[in-house]
Amino acid sequence: MKISFHGACREVTGSCILVETEKTKFLVDCGMFQDDETYFKNEIFSFDPCDIDFVLLTHSHIDHCGRIPKLYKEGFTGNVYLTEPTKQIAEAMLLDSAKVFLKEKEHSPLYFEKDVLEATNHFFSLKYNKEKMVSSDVKIKLKDAGHVLGSCVFEVFVEGKKIIFSGDLGNNASPIVKNPEIIDGADVLFVESTYGATSHDSRESGRQALKQAINEVVKNNGVLMIPVFALERSQEIIFELKSFLVKGQIPSVPVFLDSPLAIKITDIYRSFANSFDEQAFELMKRGEDIFDFRGLKYVRKPNQSKKISAIKGAKIILAGSGMCTGGRIGGYLKKHLGNSKNKLLLVSFQVEGTLGRSLAEGAKTVVVDNQKVKVRAGVSSLHSFSSHADQEQIINWVSEIKKPKPKTVFIVHGEEESGLALEQKIKEKLNLDCIVPFSDKVYEI
Ligand SMILES: [Zn+2]
Repeated sequence: MKISFHGACREVTGSCILVETEKTKFLVDCGMFQDDETYFKNEIFSFDPCDIDFVLLTHSHIDHCGRIPKLYKEGFTGNVYLTEPTKQIAEAMLLDSAKVFLKEKEHSPLYFEKDVLEATNHFFSLKYNKEKMVSSDVKIKLKDAGHVLGSCVFEVFVEGKKIIFSGDLGNNASPIVKNPEIIDGADVLFVESTYGATSHDSRESGRQALKQAINEVVKNNGVLMIPVFALERSQEIIFELKSFLVKGQIPSVPVFLDSPLAIKITDIYRSFANSFDEQAFELMKRGEDIFDFRGLKYVRKPNQSKKISAIKGAKIILAGSGMCTGGRIGGYLKKHLGNSKNKLLLVSFQVEGTLGRSLAEGAKTVVVDNQKVKVRAGVSSLHSFSSHADQEQIINWVSEIKKPKPKTVFIVHGEEESGLALEQKIKEKLNLDCIVPFSDKVYEI
């Protein structure tokens, strides 16, 4: 069968793998590019959507699902196979994207709300570990990827081969979602490499750094801004803040979650508490709401940043987007980046070419919503809250795939440097053949 890569190939965003068997053509993910050439890259598919039979969706991050409505807009009529939490979260994420497109003046929208609803009509949810024939020659099984709620690894059985698509692999340290499931064997493996070159600091050191940032800001009467992804990072940071408060490790300080999308997704999380990892599940079972505490305000109304900023005293603001590329965080950055008593804490991966990446790399002046802003606030990055496995965790996960060991490992979803570093490590430690693919090549497996 033929394999080609239409995104997340020697880069992180735009996940989309096309598999062509004798009888079937399908995609694994159909995500949006989120770098500086975004619009151009998102606008054109390098295949005909009418030819695709179905899509396997690993999870609801927009760089994995963000172009699915566009597929339908351009003639795709098949199903999207996914888990139930992914179905609900992806619908919220895609409706939000359609809204964001309408606000953009430079480009026409990639798709509209009606295209999202057409797509979600074809979302077909499946449970983990149940096999399903999805075409005359393709059988699939979903395993928990432990990355965000509902994320899955796809096991695909076709032409006598077992092929594994990791999607994004979770970080074992995450307290809410479970750890990635072990896969027993594979003929061919596709694995992500976002952190293929690096190790995360321990979650405990991240907690210490977060507490320290909060305590410093409280001492200075300043503002701690934490740009967050609406999915997973928002819920995890709230979970951590609550546990600091319960243990008396930080003073009580107002916390604002200024993201309607994050609020909606938090509600979806609550409704799937049964599938949480042990610690979070036990707390919810005891009747404790892990996503609520005194002092936490969910901000639903728009344009509240001025009002919130005007509230006297120290405060913590969580707002999207996680890479500062849009959303409500912009209003706070403009207001508070220029003051040295404030802090900006980046707790997510920052893609090359984004405002968040410039800030992480120490830019002294940045442009936020066409406004020049001097950076005097302290800026720091924490990688230990990542929802991705780091190099060691990826290697350990791949090493468990033994019966049989994969003959080929395709390394995707990582900047070139990360992909190549992971390739070297997998060859060295596990003695497996690896390919870091190119987007203009077709591979035969
Ligand atoms: Zn992801």
